[in-house]
Amino acid sequence: MSNSEIYALNSSKVAAATDEWLAKRGVTKLAIAELVHFLQKDYFPDLTPEDCIVHVEAVLSKREVQNAVLTGIQLDVLAEEGKLIAPLQDMIKHDESLYGCDEILALSIVNVYGSIGFTNFGYIDKLKPGILVRLNSKSDGEIHTFLDDIVGAIAASAASRIAHRRQAEREGVTTPPLD
Ligand code: MG
Repeated sequence: MSNSEIYALNSSKVAAATDEWLAKRGVTKLAIAELVHFLQKDYFPDLTPEDCIVHVEAVLSKREVQNAVLTGIQLDVLAEEGKLIAPLQDMIKHDESLYGCDEILALSIVNVYGSIGFTNFGYIDKLKPGILVRLNSKSDGEIHTFLDDIVGAIAASAASRIAHRRQAEREGVTTPPLD
């Protein structure tokens, strides 16, 4: 194998592909930030959806998150194209309720942000506000079996980041937890 054939991951390409594919699937950072605002507005009345964008961007900057986004979107796209093996094809196409791997992949995002992330993920998964309505509509021919959970997990993680940072601010801690 020549040196040019040796695999080397390019981090900036992974980050750029994550941004590109979220946009292609119709998910904006503001739409995720609106979910974060939904989760945290009762605790921090001064918070705006625009304030939440920086926290969404921080979550999206993590490799674990980028990996989950790309993996989930790839499986959704392959399901739209009918390219998955049976019976996985039908399970993902129909968002089979007993499948569960979509939620498990999304938990790899929440995992980075602790228990507040976990509880918010469960809460938003039940209520499905904002952009999660469209991602769950199953009416536009697109399949978002994985992406709905991933978007919910990014929002839940950003909500956890805000909660921890606000507490650190109250305590005058200059190095906030959860980067
Ligand atoms: Mg799902």
